[in-house]
Amino acid sequence: MDIQRLEFQQPMWGGVNVLRIGDTLVDTGHVRSTDAVREALDGGLAGVERVLLTHPHIDHVGGSQTVDAIADLPHVGFEGVPSIVHGYADYLREARADMTRLLSGLGATESQWDVYFPVDGSYHQDRIAFEREVGDGETVRIGDYELETVHTPGHSAQHAAFWHEPSGTCLSGDLVSENGHFMYAPLYCDIDDYKRSLRRLRALSPDRLVPMHGPEMTDPRERIDDCLAKAEATAAELRSWLDERGRFFAREFARESFGADGAAVGFLTLVVHEYATHLAEQGACSVAVTGDGVELSR
Ligand SMILES: [Zn+2]
Repeated sequence: MDIQRLEFQQPMWGGVNVLRIGDTLVDTGHVRSTDAVREALDGGLAGVERVLLTHPHIDHVGGSQTVDAIADLPHVGFEGVPSIVHGYADYLREARADMTRLLSGLGATESQWDVYFPVDGSYHQDRIAFEREVGDGETVRIGDYELETVHTPGHSAQHAAFWHEPSGTCLSGDLVSENGHFMYAPLYCDIDDYKRSLRRLRALSPDRLVPMHGPEMTDPRERIDDCLAKAEATAAELRSWLDERGRFFAREFARESFGADGAAVGFLTLVVHEYATHLAEQGACSVAVTGDGVELSR
């Protein structure tokens, strides 16, 4: 499968990919990458005629929300994607409020969020032209190829991967991360779904994974196994902290167990919160979110 990968910078958290496959664009970058994406329309993205979205996050639908020429292209996305994209300002406000709440105690400032979640931006929203909302198992055309839609919730409930069996290629969105850890995202993420989706992808036995952050992976089965092993190890480690300490803050676990420092502490605190929620559902702990932070207790 012939795939051109363009990488754009997003604020705070590194690069994000936009894929060009024939006449089709897969995802459209962060809303802060607008200028770079617009420039690319005269170069690597010239002649693009349609857009496929892997999921509706701010770093994947930015060009659609901010670049006229992209908003007007026919879009395809999984069930639920159009309604989020069409109500984008509200969605961003909600997502930002959720992250702010979970990161209290870490000194995240409004100005930081203004950079990542510009809620005052004027977005194209309703104007974005969806030609189709696809469901699990349905075929989508990407360039000259036909791919199967694989609903893969976890990172986002509306997340889909796209599978091209003849070449063993899977466009895996944000399901399989570069470092093998679960990627938190606001509002609609879920650890159980994440593990189920990883197993589903693993069962396809892909030879090539093309994620939306970082370079493609040529050892996908090992990478997926690593993700699954890390998910189990993280839950087990949290359980042993609960046994030994009784109560602790998610950020302490992020620092000591994940070895996070600097900006990574915040991001990994959100990851820990998601695992904590998962353990709480199994009755293994309680989770309190207060002005002091996210606290887990036995
Ligand atoms: Zn995402």
